[in-house]
Amino acid sequence: MLYPPAGQGVNLVALDNSIFGTDSHWYDGRAFPCFGIDLDCEGCKHGQVARWYGYLPSLWLPSKTKVLACISEGAFRECLKLQSLNGSLRGWQYRLERMGQGKTAPVRCVITGPRHGEPLPPSWDIRAALMTLWRVDSLPKSLQREPSADGPPPDRQA
Ligand SMILES: [Zn+2]
Repeated sequence: MLYPPAGQGVNLVALDNSIFGTDSHWYDGRAFPCFGIDLDCEGCKHGQVARWYGYLPSLWLPSKTKVLACISEGAFRECLKLQSLNGSLRGWQYRLERMGQGKTAPVRCVITGPRHGEPLPPSWDIRAALMTLWRVDSLPKSLQREPSADGPPPDRQA
């Protein structure tokens, strides 16, 4: 899982066409899935707010390391180009920037253009990758959702 470090930006190339979005809890510097209080969600039981995060298989430049990039709801909502490209993102280069020195400063996404001139490795199964990462046997189907226009205010805790 890749989050932009404090005060820095990371350059990436999307390997999948679509962002996989879930409600997640943020603690210990990582995102964890929210299963909903009905499903005995640990985060909810501890009173933590769940927020939407999007996950996108990507290549991290310049090393071309394969990463699962984590995109905050605020970054998604404020990047209209990312929203309009969602569904055909593969091959687009983008930058995630943390706008401030703090580890939890808001993140901005900038689409920097299509990537030309080299074949890209295939994407992978985001659900399976998240299940491995989160050490769970399944993800409820309802876990995937788009951030809604009339939902909570943009997340500033990226
Ligand atoms: Zn929860």
